[in-house]
Amino acid sequence: MGTLRLVLADQLSARLDIRTRADKETDVFLMAEVAEEASYVRHHVKKIAFLFSAMRHYAEALQQAGYRVRYVRFDDPENTHSLKREIDRARTELKLSAVHVTEPGEWRLKEVFAAMDDVTLLEDNRFLCSPQWFSRWAEGRKQLRMEYFYREMRRAHDILMDDGKPCGGEWNYDAENRSPPRDGLVFPRRLSFRKDSITRDVLYLVAKVFPDNPGQLEPFHFAVTRSQALKELDHFVAHILPQFGPWQDAMLGREPYMYHSLLSSYINAGLLYPLEVCLAAERAYREDGAPLNAVEGFIRQVLGWREYVRGLYWHFMPDYVAMNALDAHEDLPWFYWSGDTQMNCVRTAVAHTLEHAYSHHIQRLMITGNFALLAGVDPKQVHEWYLAVYADAYEWVELPNTLGMALHADGGIMASKPYAASGAYINRMSDYCKDCHYKVEMPVGEKSCPFNALYWDFIARHEERFRKNPRLSYVYANWTRMGDDKQKALRAQAQAHLQAMREGHL
Ligand SMILES: Cc1cc2nc3c(=O)[nH]c(=O)nc-3n(C[C@H](O)[C@H](O)[C@H](O)COP(=O)(O)OP(=O)(O)OC[C@H]3O[C@@H](n4cnc5c(N)ncnc54)[C@H](O)[C@@H]3O)c2cc1C
Ligand code: SF4
Repeated sequence: MGTLRLVLADQLSARLDIRTRADKETDVFLMAEVAEEASYVRHHVKKIAFLFSAMRHYAEALQQAGYRVRYVRFDDPENTHSLKREIDRARTELKLSAVHVTEPGEWRLKEVFAAMDDVTLLEDNRFLCSPQWFSRWAEGRKQLRMEYFYREMRRAHDILMDDGKPCGGEWNYDAENRSPPRDGLVFPRRLSFRKDSITRDVLYLVAKVFPDNPGQLEPFHFAVTRSQALKELDHFVAHILPQFGPWQDAMLGREPYMYHSLLSSYINAGLLYPLEVCLAAERAYREDGAPLNAVEGFIRQVLGWREYVRGLYWHFMPDYVAMNALDAHEDLPWFYWSGDTQMNCVRTAVAHTLEHAYSHHIQRLMITGNFALLAGVDPKQVHEWYLAVYADAYEWVELPNTLGMALHADGGIMASKPYAASGAYINRMSDYCKDCHYKVEMPVGEKSCPFNALYWDFIARHEERFRKNPRLSYVYANWTRMGDDKQKALRAQAQAHLQAMREGHL
């Protein structure tokens, strides 16, 4: 008796057990483009197109390798547009009862599969840390700091280690990786892949079926197969990784990618494996002289942050998604969808997002995330925005980054202090302020930078929670030194900015 093997859009990996254990004679792979998954948030059109195209290419590769595949296209008239119903329909029509599926990346789907008869969940062995390992690591610890988790991962996987010690003698070279942008930086070209007939069909479909979803569909130059994704990896390692370090936190209006890898969409969808990505970076250090601060900084993101946020997600779900420790209830401003704001930093970050279904980490954290934090926007609405607009967004990775890292809505499980910053930080790390309607040096006044008064209002609003935090003691000392009149003026200015935000003219 054969098995129905469900492959989800982010499981396009030949090395998963679901594939390596498949019997070509008796088993059938099921892949389905269903509205339930494509529409539970208003996904960016490029994200939908990337995933549908990558799924169709993966299905084709499976067939070419001799496997039996049942692929349900979005516009198939028989499509029931629900994974559960598609599984049941396939079971009946193919006369297969046992279903195997790799653990999904969302609690919601795990619940769906858990409630179905004869569905077996297989471990997702692409990750370098299982949820069980993470929970054991977390048990009994007062604080779950990424840095300690990361060191364990380096040791466990023997990555960037020399005789049991971290390469170069330090675990972390972050101090070398926080340079502001400077004139004369040169950015290597990025790869762009020719659209084949599969991708062209998908682009046509997405334009027709999702006309009101956010984002621009064209130009579309995503890699959609494993071999293309490997080219992206090689290109990054050879031409970009050496510069990845110093300007990791820098932002430039004209340069959406800086020296970032653009690999997250491919790793998360399964076209690349996190381990091979780390090993390629390590090789660049050991064999090709790539600087250690760049290589370590990159490996920390993949081996450290990526695995850590997944561990947090499964450890704290299902409660995590509802957390709102800072009691934030403002509605998400419309300019997150339209980019229609006079704040140049936010407008630029949203424009990059709408054009590319991508913005780099510091734009996500210190521009759109920071603004939502300071303005007190409802975490659920912010979470749904991030989940919708980025091509690499799946709940297991997006939620802890949004709720925990950007919004501090988990009350500090993830970060020991909120990533809150005023305009001065943005001015130091970007070129946005020089072209802005607002004046970054002004704390109050009609043209004052909104990040300034909102920052101090945030500090004042949450004084009880954060005053005793040693990492914020200098901030509260400054706040106290300001005196009553200045404090009142800043708080009134914050209210004026918030009112403008609510009325749609910030
Ligand atoms: C509010 C917010 C939401 C985010 N949502 C997502 C998301 O939905 N999906 C997603 O993959 N990342 C998310 N991130 C993390 C990070 O911003 C992206 O992984 C990164 O910007 C992807 O671009 P890149 O591939 O060029 O990354 P690079 O800067 O080149 O980093 C290399 C790789 O490290 C990994 N990585 C780096 N930082 C993180 C992190 N904090 N968490 C997990 N992996 C990380 C990614 O796989 C990435 O490809 C979010 C961050 C914030 C602050
Ligand atoms: S002045 Fe303020 S709003 Fe304008 S770009 Fe700078 S930080 Fe952003």
